[in-house]
Amino acid sequence: LYDQLAAITAPQCPTTSARPGSQYVPTASDLDAALAAGHIIPFYQPKLSVSTRAITGVEVLARWRHPDHGLVGPDYFIPLAEKEGLIERLTDQIIDQSLVQGRIWLDQGRPLKLALNLSALSLRHLDLPEDLLRRVEGRGLSPEQIVLEITESALASDFSASLDILTRLRMRRFALSIDDFGTGYSSLKQLQHGPFTELKIDQSFIAKALEEEGSLAIVESSVQLGRRMGLKVVAEGIETEQQMDLIRHLGCDEAQGYLLGRPVAANDFPR
Ligand code: C2E
Ligand code: MG
Ligand code: MG
Ligand code: MG
Repeated sequence: LYDQLAAITAPQCPTTSARPGSQYVPTASDLDAALAAGHIIPFYQPKLSVSTRAITGVEVLARWRHPDHGLVGPDYFIPLAEKEGLIERLTDQIIDQSLVQGRIWLDQGRPLKLALNLSALSLRHLDLPEDLLRRVEGRGLSPEQIVLEITESALASDFSASLDILTRLRMRRFALSIDDFGTGYSSLKQLQHGPFTELKIDQSFIAKALEEEGSLAIVESSVQLGRRMGLKVVAEGIETEQQMDLIRHLGCDEAQGYLLGRPVAANDFPR
């Protein structure tokens, strides 16, 4: 099961901005030591309103601050963590650190929604909804401030089991986002019956939408589908003003991308 899930979530091609200096291939014991040393940390990338460009929230993206290899992106260690049984510890650490940060921002008068990426494996734990609620409230935050991003491919791996957990999460008022929409194999029926609140169009379609008719068609119909289903529609991977104009024209609610803000450490976020 672990191997199957790791294969599903393995990257075809790393899209990360944080690449290791050399061809660093971490082992499970490297990652285990990094977790123990607190080297796995959250970076934050803003999500903005397309119409006002106000920051509505931040996506939490894991980074490995490696003493020898620099900043390592999640495509290099999330599949490893899933395969080696380290993903729960990793997820716990990322969530705890980002909840503390979310609380600091709230105390500073910046009520930012936190978008957390969940692994397919997390959706197998029946105690996840209650556990997460306890941790969020324990930090003085509320579940309405938390968006849980789940990739479409993570959903497809065992939809009926995931649906149960997703429903329990939604009952506790967590927002639920379908990440990388268009790249997985979920059916429209699953989409219709899932308790989602947000749809994130995968950046690969955004990247080609202005050059390729097929990608434009996918973006356009995804926006329409999301809106008709009452979901907030987010475009990820916005790198140019032309792409921003396009998604505004098509009716996307929120945008995320290097044009608007790269993922950065908490200390660099205010700037
Ligand atoms: P994602 O959730 O779809 O996150 C978006 C990815 O696109 C991030 O890569 C982000 O840095 C990158 N990105 C943002 N704007 C742009 C842009 O304008 N252009 C381009 N080319 N890329 C952009 P990153 O940080 O390398 O993360 C990769 C994936 O790793 C994430 O995809 C997410 O699925 C996963 N991930 C990240 N953090 C965690 C985590 O804490 N737990 C789990 N389970 N998965 C995580
Ligand atoms: Mg995401
Ligand atoms: Mg995505
Ligand atoms: Mg992705």
